[in-house]
Amino acid sequence: MNKSSNKTLDKQAALDKIALEIENCNECKLGKNGLAVAGEGNPDADIIFIGEAPGKKEALSGRPFIGRSGQMLRGFIRDIGLDDEKDVFITSPVKYLPDRGTPTSADIAHGRIHLMAQFEVIQPKFVVLLGRVAAEGVLQSRVQVTKVHGQVVEERDGIKYFLTYHPAAVLRFPGKFKKLMLEDFQKIKKLWLGLNK
Ligand code: URA
Repeated sequence: MNKSSNKTLDKQAALDKIALEIENCNECKLGKNGLAVAGEGNPDADIIFIGEAPGKKEALSGRPFIGRSGQMLRGFIRDIGLDDEKDVFITSPVKYLPDRGTPTSADIAHGRIHLMAQFEVIQPKFVVLLGRVAAEGVLQSRVQVTKVHGQVVEERDGIKYFLTYHPAAVLRFPGKFKKLMLEDFQKIKKLWLGLNK
């Protein structure tokens, strides 16, 4: 086995350990239900997509972004030439389905602990923040997505943080947001290709 596949296996083992911690975390489960959704994808991915919280389908299966929002997100990822299972890692700051739909600031602040542990292992170079909750969970800052989407909103320790819409917003208001989100993904493609030259 070569060095890089050893590294990937080590990272997968470390992510599995974090997933187990999430499954056993009582604080994560407060006001939420269903299965834990820790995230999935390439443990050594350079690019990672961050959502909000699992929906009903995700909470039933334990897999991230497999419902309608997920189909849209995965389609957008494939459209820019990436494999949604092999090239990227996909997760959310909140690891269980909130009873009331939208996660609270306390849910996001707690979920961040597990999310940052995942970042430590994966060490991505490019982070795509899908909406306000993702930005709060990762950057701990409040953003107005409609104003600052489509750009790198922060660069820290060599990691670029790019903000776009959450696919659920596009499903709700396709006429308003779909074209903008597709344009944002073209920008991701350009920036991504630039990083990998
Ligand atoms: N929306 C999210 O933010 N995450 C999921 O896993 C599914 C829908």
